[in-house]
Amino acid sequence: MNETTRTVGFIGLGHMGGPMAANLVKAGHRVNGFDLVPELLATAAESGVEPADTAVAAVTAADVVITMLPAGRHVLGLYRDEGLLAAARPGTLFIDCSTIDVADARTAHEAAVAAGMRTLDAPVSGGVVGAEAATLTFMVGGAKPEFADAEPLLAAMGKKIVHCGGAGAGQAAKICNNMILGISMIAVSEAFVLGESLGLSHQALFDVASTASGQCWALTTNCPVPGPVPTSPANRDYAPGFAAPLMAKDLGLAANAARACGVPARLGLTAAELYAAYAVGTGAHEDFSGIVRTLRNGAATAPTSEPHRDAKGGTPA
Ligand code: NAD
Repeated sequence: MNETTRTVGFIGLGHMGGPMAANLVKAGHRVNGFDLVPELLATAAESGVEPADTAVAAVTAADVVITMLPAGRHVLGLYRDEGLLAAARPGTLFIDCSTIDVADARTAHEAAVAAGMRTLDAPVSGGVVGAEAATLTFMVGGAKPEFADAEPLLAAMGKKIVHCGGAGAGQAAKICNNMILGISMIAVSEAFVLGESLGLSHQALFDVASTASGQCWALTTNCPVPGPVPTSPANRDYAPGFAAPLMAKDLGLAANAARACGVPARLGLTAAELYAAYAVGTGAHEDFSGIVRTLRNGAATAPTSEPHRDAKGGTPA
């Protein structure tokens, strides 16, 4: 379909879904929205979303259904148990933008196709700021014709839209990217903590690593220590940003996928464990870069291990 105006059923109007739905309205689309939380439905209505009484009511007149929900069980629950797939018109395009397990995404695709629907997984990165500014990145899995159909609609909510492959490929790209991010944030944090112990200033390490082979987003944009990057969350006591529980969730999904595929992913699994512990502790309301404080404390209390000896038996200089 190439017409510019679509009728969208939008389910899940939370931190991300609320502003995304508002951007669809701004772009001229008709949006029938639903969320379990009445206050969120009322806020969405203020930006032009037409509130529906139920999820099913939001999708019956739609030619596209977008879901932005916490986890795979919510997506599958709505698709199957709550009857969205049965209620929508045949051929409706179902786009799930939630971050969910790759296996759940594939199950959702299969259920949608079996019900006569078309389907894509299209998780996002860019956070609430990107959702509000319509600058999200969409990572899309599914068939090419469905992708071509969805692209103009996704462009109203984001600025970069990448077709990653078949069913589940969008989710796969999302969790692989965030596995890199989680590991690299821990690597950068450990380097700063080690540098502190060696008497190296944060700025000196930053000046070297940011223009050398240690350069990465975790260092140069979201630097976990205050000072070198004034806009990083470390300068505002680790207020998110990208909240630690969301990183823990994404690393948990990556760990599930690694185990399911028999991929060792040792650093990914370790990062998942460290973030899981941090996210239920001091990190519950912090940006994920705040893990540097946990690592610093851990470094102070960890049992002393055998020092590495050089060939002459002395400790290296
Ligand atoms: P959120 O909790 O703010 O929003 C989810 C909404 O889904 C809630 O308002 C909830 O009431 C609603 N919901 C749950 N079950 C429902 C049902 N059966 N019917 C109708 N509504 C239902 O979460 P969020 O931060 O908006 O994140 C949504 C998804 O986007 C998650 O999968 C998350 O991992 C992903 N994500 C979030 C961010 C971020 O920065 N917040 C960034 C990238 C990706």
